[in-house]
Amino acid sequence: MTDQATAETRGFQTEARKLLQLMINSLYSNREIFLRELISNASDAIDRLRFESLKDTSLIADDPEFKILVEFDKDAGTVAVVDNGIGMSRDEAVANLGTIAKSGTEEFFGALTGDEQKDSALIGQFGVGFYSSFIVAREVEVLTRRAGDETGTRWTSTGEEAFSVEERAEVPRGTRVVLTLKDDAKEFAEGFRLRSVLRKYSDHVGVPVMMTKEDGDDDQEGELEAVNSAKALWTRPRSDVSEDEYKEFYKHVSHDFEDPVVWSHNKVEGKLEYTSLLYVPKRAPFDLWNRDAPRGLKLYVQRVFIMDDAEAFLPLYLRFVRGVVDSSDLPLNVSRELLQQDDRTRTIKNALTKRVLDMLAKMDAEEYGPVWDEFGLVLKEGMGEDFANKEQLLGLIRFASTHDADPAQRTSLKDYVARMNADEASSGSDGGSDEPEADTDESDGDEEAKQGHGKIYYLIADSDAAARSSPHLEAFRARGIEVLLLTDRIDEWWMSFADEFDGVKFQDVARGELDLGDVESTESKDDEAESDDEPLLKRIGDVLGDQVESVRRSRRLTDSPACLVLGEDDLGIQMRRIMEATGQAAPDSKPHFEVNLTHPLVERLEDEPDEDRFGDLVSILFDQASLAEGNTVAEPGAYVQRVNKLLVDLLR
Ligand code: ADP
Repeated sequence: MTDQATAETRGFQTEARKLLQLMINSLYSNREIFLRELISNASDAIDRLRFESLKDTSLIADDPEFKILVEFDKDAGTVAVVDNGIGMSRDEAVANLGTIAKSGTEEFFGALTGDEQKDSALIGQFGVGFYSSFIVAREVEVLTRRAGDETGTRWTSTGEEAFSVEERAEVPRGTRVVLTLKDDAKEFAEGFRLRSVLRKYSDHVGVPVMMTKEDGDDDQEGELEAVNSAKALWTRPRSDVSEDEYKEFYKHVSHDFEDPVVWSHNKVEGKLEYTSLLYVPKRAPFDLWNRDAPRGLKLYVQRVFIMDDAEAFLPLYLRFVRGVVDSSDLPLNVSRELLQQDDRTRTIKNALTKRVLDMLAKMDAEEYGPVWDEFGLVLKEGMGEDFANKEQLLGLIRFASTHDADPAQRTSLKDYVARMNADEASSGSDGGSDEPEADTDESDGDEEAKQGHGKIYYLIADSDAAARSSPHLEAFRARGIEVLLLTDRIDEWWMSFADEFDGVKFQDVARGELDLGDVESTESKDDEAESDDEPLLKRIGDVLGDQVESVRRSRRLTDSPACLVLGEDDLGIQMRRIMEATGQAAPDSKPHFEVNLTHPLVERLEDEPDEDRFGDLVSILFDQASLAEGNTVAEPGAYVQRVNKLLVDLLR
C-alpha cells in the first residue's frame, strides 16, 4: 500500500556519494563483507531495543523473541537480512542511510587524493557499514518501522545519485534490508554460500541468526535453524574462542576492516565483577586527533548493551583501544554522567589501563614496532596524564638514538640502560690498567664511573637530521656515550614529566653545565689553568651584553667553536612554540654562550686586535650557534652582511 503523497526522492549527501563510489570500486575483491556489515547493524539494532525495552516493555510486546533472519531467493536473485530490533522512523532512515554523520567526515573526504589505489587504502579506516550493500546489489530496499511507531518506511536506492522514501503501512517492527543482486554476485542467493559466509561473520553475535534448514533449499517455507551459537563472544571462556572469532568480533565492534594486532580477554571476579575484551587496532582511525571524535568501549551491564563509546573506562591517551566491557555491578540505567563519577568505573578504568599497558609491554619488538609508529605520539600524552603509570609508559616509549645511524631504528630505555651498564662494567674492569692514577684515589671506582655516565642523555631537535648534526652531541660522540634523539613536537613537554627510569636520571644534553666527570674523552683533553681564559670570555661577554646569561668555557664541544645552552629550568624552543601557538606569553630567558677554547677560530679570536672585527666575529659565532639550535637569528640581514664582509676580506 503506497501512499503517493508521502513519496519523495532525495540526493545523497556529497560525502555519502563519494563513499559509495569509492567503496564499490575498491572493495570489490572482498565483496562478502556486506553480510558482516548488515548482520552487525541488525545486532546493534536489537541491542538498542533491548536497552529501551528495559524502561518500556510494551515496545517488544508484539514480538518479544529477538532474532535476525537471513532469507534468499535464488530465482529472484535476492537476499534479505531481517531484524526485529529498534527500526528507524522516516526521518532516521533519511538521515542514517543518506548521510554520513561521523565527525571529521568532511576533512576525511577532503584528504582523499582521487587516486583510487591510495584512497582505497584509506577507506578501511573509515568503516563503510550499510553502504557496502551496493558492492553486490544493483538495488537495495529497506523496509523499517521504529519500535513504538505506527507506520513504517520504505527506502530504496540503486546507490547512484539518489534514494526514495515513502510511508508504508503494516511493516513489522525492525528492519528488513533486501538486496537485488548484481548479475555477478548471484552466488549470495544460494543457501550453501550464504551459510558459510554467515558462520564466519555471525558466531560472535549474541542473538540467533536464522536461516531455512539446508534441505529447505531456496525457499522461506522450510524450517528455520540458527547458524550461529548466539552467545555473546566475551561471555565465552577464552579457550572456546578461536583466533578468527576474536578477529571477527573486533571488526564488529570497531567497524574496522583490518585485523587487530593484539587483544586481551579477561573475566574478573571478586568485589567487582566484570569482563573486558580489549583490542589494539593495526591502524589509527582517521579521527584520532579530532578532540570530539567518539572513543571508548562498548558498555554492557549483565550482557545488556548500554552504550557505545563509553569513554569513562579508559584514559584519553588510550583512545585508540577498542572493545567491550561488561559489568555485573553497574545499574542498567547508568548514564554517561553517572559513569564519570562512579567509583566502580574508576576502579575498572585503572585495571583496564594496566591491562592495555601490560598487553603492549608483552609484545615482541617486531610486533610492537608498527604499533609504536602508529600510536606512539598518543602514548606519549600519557606521560602528562597518567602519573601512576609513568614507569610502565616510559618502558613503552621508543627513541631514535645515536646508537643507530638509521633513524628508523628505535631503542627502548631498557636497552639504553643495559648498554650504559655494559659500558660502565667494561670501563670499570679494564679501565684500571690504563689509568693507574685514577685507581689510587677512588675506593669505589664503579660508583664514580656511574656519576659520569650514569644518566640517560637526550637531545630535543626539530628533525632527525638537525639532531644528528647538533654541536651538543660532540662531547658525547668523543666519549662514545649514547644520546637519545627526540624530534616529536611534544617531546619537550612530556619529557618534563619524566625524571628517571629504573633509577637512572634523564639529562637534556643542551641544558645546564655539562659534567661528564671521569668519563674520558677518546681524544684526551688538555686541562690548562682556566683562569688564563677569563679575559677572552669577558671580552666576548662585553660584545654580547644582555643577549646571554653568561659566557663560559665549553666542555661539550670538540668540532664547533661555540654553542648555546639552556639553564636547567628554562623553556626550550618546543615549549616556547607551544605557548606562542596557544597565545600564552613565554617567560623570558637567555641562553648561556659556551665557547670551545681549543677551536682554531676561537684561538685566533684571542689575538684579534681590532675591536670592530672582534665584535663581528663574536656576533657571527653567536648567530651560528643559534642557527645550530634550529632557531632563527635575531637580525638575519646583519648576520649576512657580517659574513659577507669576511668573505670579501678572504677573496681580496
Ligand atoms: P554505522 O553502523 O557505522 O553507524 P551504517 O552505515 O552501517 O554505519 O549505518 C548507519 C546508521 O543507520 C546506523 O548507525 C543506524 O543508526 C542505522 N541503521 C543501519 N542499519 C540498521 C538496522 N538494521 N536497524 C536500525 N538502524 C539501522
